Amino acid sequence: MKKNTKRSLTLTLSPRERAGGEGAVPSVRIRALNDAPFNTRGQFVLYWMTSFRRARSNFALDRAIELAHSFEKPLVVLEPLRVGYPFASERIHAFILQGMADTARAFAKSPIHHYPYVETKAGDGKGLLEALAAKACAVIGDDWPGFFVPKMQRAAAEKLGVRFEVVDSNGLYPLHHTTRVFTTAHSFRTHLQKVLPPHLHELPNAEPLEQLKDLATLSKLPSEVTKRWPRASDEALRASPEFLASLPIDHTVKPVAFIGGSTTARARLDHFVTNILGAYDEARSEPEQDGTSKLSPYLHFGHLSTHEVFERLKPSPKWSPDDLGKSIGGAKAGWWKFPAASEAFLDELVTWRELAFNMSSHRPTEFTSMSSLPSWALQTIKAHATDKRAHTYSLQQLALGQTHDPLWNAAMGQLRTEGWFHNNVRMLWGKKIYEWSKSASDALTAMDTLMSKYSLDGRDPVSWSGALWVLGRYDRPWGPERPIFGKLRYMTSQNFARKVSVKQYVAKFA
Ligand SMILES: Cc1cc2nc3c(=O)[nH]c(=O)nc-3n(C[C@H](O)[C@H](O)[C@H](O)COP(=O)(O)OP(=O)(O)OC[C@H]3O[C@@H](n4cnc5c(N)ncnc54)[C@H](O)[C@@H]3O)c2cc1C
Repeated sequence: MKKNTKRSLTLTLSPRERAGGEGAVPSVRIRALNDAPFNTRGQFVLYWMTSFRRARSNFALDRAIELAHSFEKPLVVLEPLRVGYPFASERIHAFILQGMADTARAFAKSPIHHYPYVETKAGDGKGLLEALAAKACAVIGDDWPGFFVPKMQRAAAEKLGVRFEVVDSNGLYPLHHTTRVFTTAHSFRTHLQKVLPPHLHELPNAEPLEQLKDLATLSKLPSEVTKRWPRASDEALRASPEFLASLPIDHTVKPVAFIGGSTTARARLDHFVTNILGAYDEARSEPEQDGTSKLSPYLHFGHLSTHEVFERLKPSPKWSPDDLGKSIGGAKAGWWKFPAASEAFLDELVTWRELAFNMSSHRPTEFTSMSSLPSWALQTIKAHATDKRAHTYSLQQLALGQTHDPLWNAAMGQLRTEGWFHNNVRMLWGKKIYEWSKSASDALTAMDTLMSKYSLDGRDPVSWSGALWVLGRYDRPWGPERPIFGKLRYMTSQNFARKVSVKQYVAKFA
């Protein structure tokens, strides 16, 4: 792995940094959420792992390890799972628990003390973070800009009497390298082509657990903590049907074939790169083919990092950021100097995914709202707000796939039963929801609810960029102007079925 070229300091110097050492994580990826000092008398450093649920390729873990080394104290990784969050279901819980079992196995071979905690009653976990933080030298969290995470961390920051930092391990481009919000993929791609290269030298440690021989160890956590908040049982970490059935969560949304965790994520990545990627350019539009990575659930829960995917895609170990194309003005192809299919894939993984993170981190309230739409989209939606809708459906009818359109019902069927569905179909799915809703804001609510409830990759910054793309975000006006859609990009199931094969897809899922 390449050594960091620029490792600098955060807002306040850590002990090793004060002594003139290099920081393990680029300072642009670290934010202190409170003014509290480090507690040099603490018993351990605490990493509160909520979004980057992995034991490798994780800047937040790197920062926590760095501090533990600096203080010569053990590192505790608290990986909690609550039950009271919106849309909690057997499906989401099973996937997260499988991932927790995977991190538990990884940390078990290291001196790091991994502490998985699973709530069995809403609110039971209240006070756990504060209790551990009271004994910690510092708390490190995951800087993930979506769902309830930023609000939860702000609330925690007010309560913690010790330094609380959050670390960004979301993508190749650090969220806080810019404050500019990009409104098109082209402008963001052009920006990335100018500023990304130095960040490609700054990788999280691919195998951090292999370099911890001299890390202090903790024989056990304080008993007053583990007594009140016991470590997750083996049954919980197995996500057994009995355990899931005992929790106060949605039991109608069942676990699916996707198995959570870094080990499965890496196996899928390997399968994708070896067997699918070469034809990604053509096959990715075909819903009947296994033509895309299906990595979105793993990226969403942090079981896999973009850096790991990027490293796996490199055409040769000798590839360096110096090889990137120069002055290509935001063009999609020819910048990475990877094979064409890999470049097409990277455009989704880096340009489109990180574009969503750019808005969610810099416009935290707007990015889930219609106010993030461009003015032409708002105007055209308003101009066609009272156009007659030939069909309207309730949320319940949509959820059950009870519309007049078999292809749409099939899309919903795949989402409901597999917990994931195909990108090309998602676009049609969203456009039809808009066409069949009484208003654009009803359509947005329906898309959010259905994705959040059924999709493993829902509740993500990308969920909102997808739903708001349907309503014109990141898009341009299209002609001719049509009823209901106005100048919004228009899609029909008939045209869709002319372009790609859907017969078997409909037969399977409708
Ligand atoms: C209406 C709508 C809703 C969507 N909701 C979600 C969602 O809730 N969660 C989610 O992760 N993605 C969402 N997307 C984006 C995209 O459809 C999925 O990321 C993709 O289908 C996931 O499958 P994959 O991992 O096989 O993708 P691949 O084609 O293999 O792409 C690799 C990765 O690139 C990223 N990516 C791919 N397409 C896009 C895109 N259009 N925009 C941003 N990033 C992208 C994802 O992280 C994806 O895992 C939505 C798109 C639309 C149109």
